[in-house]
Order: sequence, then structure tokens, then C-alpha cells
Amino acid sequence: MSERYSRQILFHGIGAEGQKKLAEARVAIVGCGATGSALASLLARAGVGTLRIIDRDYVEPSNLQRQSLFDEQDAADSLPKAIAAARKIAAFNSEIVVEPKVDDLVPANVAALLEGMQLILDGTDNFETRYLINDYAVSQSLPWIYSAAVGSYAVTLNVLPAETACLACIFPDSPGGIIETCETSGILNSAVNLVASIAATETLKFFAGERRQVRRTLLSFDLWTNDHAEISAAKTRPHCRACGERDFVHLAGEGRPHITLCGRNSVQIHERNRPIDFNEMDRRLQPHGIVRHNDFVLKFWHDPYEMTLFPDGRAIIKGTTDTAVARSLYARYVGS
Ligand SMILES: [Zn+2]
Repeated sequence: MSERYSRQILFHGIGAEGQKKLAEARVAIVGCGATGSALASLLARAGVGTLRIIDRDYVEPSNLQRQSLFDEQDAADSLPKAIAAARKIAAFNSEIVVEPKVDDLVPANVAALLEGMQLILDGTDNFETRYLINDYAVSQSLPWIYSAAVGSYAVTLNVLPAETACLACIFPDSPGGIIETCETSGILNSAVNLVASIAATETLKFFAGERRQVRRTLLSFDLWTNDHAEISAAKTRPHCRACGERDFVHLAGEGRPHITLCGRNSVQIHERNRPIDFNEMDRRLQPHGIVRHNDFVLKFWHDPYEMTLFPDGRAIIKGTTDTAVARSLYARYVGS
């Protein structure tokens, strides 16, 4: 075992045997924003052998306050987060395998994207994707770890199917109505690092053969008020839709709405089957505004809107929350 991991091998819970097991571990990180970045960074440095990083977004300047794998050049280049993360990791640990997947996790691709993984980590920012992960993990008897951070608050749960409560045991329904998000409540980078540190350590215990040390509670901590709580998750809830009735509605996937609001003042168009030739599109858009593209993303500024276009046709339009306006802009410049 290389010198690289000597300090970790000295730790009694890992040892040389544990380090070998980590090298063989295969972990998926769904979402590579703040939490996903911190998880990927910790686990890559710790020597987890294979990390599959799934994220469809691109790096923006507002990410840099907390998304520790990215830098100003990544934001200037609008690099996809999965690609930027893989490049950063390769620079500090070239001994592990990183598989970047520039994609959203949706019912249609969940099995393909998570195939062969032994543990799934949550770096997402929404309950829709978490319920999808939960349904898939429970249906396949795969462990996963729920992690969330908003404001100064962090919360995490280890889900060991057939052993502990699943996400749907604890939250039978998605918290409806207005949900706090980073866009509305802001976020402290320290809350992100706290939740990622806890989840990453649970991952190490899991693979190092210390499964009895794996926490069986829903743990929450508010770093600003110092309020913290633990709720037992040692038992499943009788008649839980997912792990009890095995009714995996989120895998069946009613599908996402074709167009959604995303964050403040922007609309996302979930087109997936309109392959775009960026060179041709660049030429076509030149007369109408400022255009810039690389292999992964095309940006088009058409005052007061900013459109970000992906190779398969998906778009994010900033400068409006009116889906009709966004749709007509898309139809005019990309296609109807
Ligand atoms: Zn359950």
C-alpha cells in the first residue's frame, strides 16, 4: 500500500486491511455541487477505488464559495461539474478511478447510471431525486446515505435496506409547499463540510468492515444555533411505501415536467432529444447576441436573457421566471 495512505492506515479503524477494501470500493456520488464536491474530495483522498460522479450542471461563479473542487477557470469555461471534478481529483490522486457522468439522474437512466455501484451518496439538492435514489437503492438492496445542508443546518441518514429505516420511512411525503433551498436561505460552506465529513466517515466505516459502527439515526445539527437532534432510524416503519410495500413509484417515474423553474430568476427546459451542433448553433446565433461555446456547453447572451445550452438540447434560461417567455425564446433560437 502506498505511502500516500500511511496516516490513515495507522488509524485503528482502518488499518492495512481496511485500506485494501477501500481501494476495491465502488461509490456513486449523485450531484456534485457543494456536498458532492466535499464528499468526492474526501473519499478520493482517502483512497476509495472507484468514484462515479453524476452531475449535469456546469460550474458558475456563485458556486465557488462552497464547492471545493472548482476554481475560477472552471467557472469561466462553464465546465460541467462532473468533468471539472474528475480533472481536479486526477491532479491529486491519479491512483483511483473517477467516472464522470454529465447527466441528470432520472427514472429512465437510474439503473444504467448506478449499475455496479456498492454505495450511493447523496449530493443532490432536491427530494425528487432523493426519492428516486431511495426507491432504486431499496429495490436493489443497496445502501445509500442521505445528506442535506441549507443555511447553517446539516442533516444526514444512513439507509441500509432491510436493516434500518429508509428515507420514505422517515419522510413519507416530500416536504411540500415552500422548501428552503440554498437559493432562498443561503448556505454556509461549513454546514456543507460538516454533513460531508459525517457521510464520508460513514462510508469509510462501511467499507473498512466496521459495519456495526455505522450510525442508525437521522442526525441533524444547526451550526449557528448549536441545536442538534438524533432520531432513531434503527427500525423500519410498518407499511412504508418503499421498503415495506415495495411500491417503487419514483422508479416508475411519472417523468419530470418538461419545463421547470430552477433557482432564482431562471427556467430550465428539459429537452433531451435534440442533439445540437455547437459550431452551427454558434454561427446561427452570432447576429442575435454574444455567443461562446466549448465542447460541453454553449452560452448565448441576448439582453436581458442568458441561455445556456447543452449538447442534447437541454437549456437553462436566466432572466425570467415566465415559462412561456423561456419557451418562446427557446423556440425562436433553438427550435420548437
Ligand atoms: Zn422505508
